[in-house]
Amino acid sequence: MLQAIKRTLLWGGAASAGVALLFGALIVWPDPLFAYALGTGKIVVASDRPIPSAGGERLLRDCERLLERSPLKAKARQYRIYVTNEDWRQRLFFLPKPKAWGLAYSLSSFGGPAFLSGADFEAGRVVHLGYVGTPPRTLAWLCAHELTHIIVGEHVGLARFRVPRWVWEGFPDYVGIENRVSFEELRDALGDRPVDIPMMIKHGSYPRYRLLVTYFLEKKGWSVDQLLQTRLTEDEATEIMRADAKR
Ligand SMILES: [Zn+2]
Repeated sequence: MLQAIKRTLLWGGAASAGVALLFGALIVWPDPLFAYALGTGKIVVASDRPIPSAGGERLLRDCERLLERSPLKAKARQYRIYVTNEDWRQRLFFLPKPKAWGLAYSLSSFGGPAFLSGADFEAGRVVHLGYVGTPPRTLAWLCAHELTHIIVGEHVGLARFRVPRWVWEGFPDYVGIENRVSFEELRDALGDRPVDIPMMIKHGSYPRYRLLVTYFLEKKGWSVDQLLQTRLTEDEATEIMRADAKR
């Protein structure tokens, strides 16, 4: 009996290690599962469906322009982004976060691939399990958001696991939002309301995080490195921002 249990556990362990290894290999080298690719410059977009050239070129141009505007420079020669339109591919690559629109496998300083759940290149829209995103959460925004995760990972290495969530998500949204508004404008637009779906639809996925990031970069004059090195919690950062407004 004990022997049988032992054997089962051993085989089970070996099987899950095998699956994890296979998944790791797929993340490092997803190309065989994406038949189409476009781009020879800073960004290459690959997809499991043909990429219309005008829409594809526009995405690359817009995404690159957003990254160029970022205060954190993209150092790698090239970044790759994969679009998983087919249901099974979406499920496979989004296994760690099934509901996400995009996912960046930021493999520390070595960079890594980013995935978008689905795309309508011609309209410049994200398609997520049948739902079509609306501006400001465009395809170019999501591309710049996910690639910024990769670029931050390259910059800070393993310390990325200590970057507070408001910085980790707020900074990519700050980079990705096409029509960047001033701190005051965003603060007044958000008011004191809690984050809900209508607010996210209007102001991006992480409006409060983006407000904090805008405050520290533009009002406090922090450098990107200061931002990425801070260990302030969201509450502490919000407290500083509010106290400043009262003065
Ligand atoms: Zn994100």
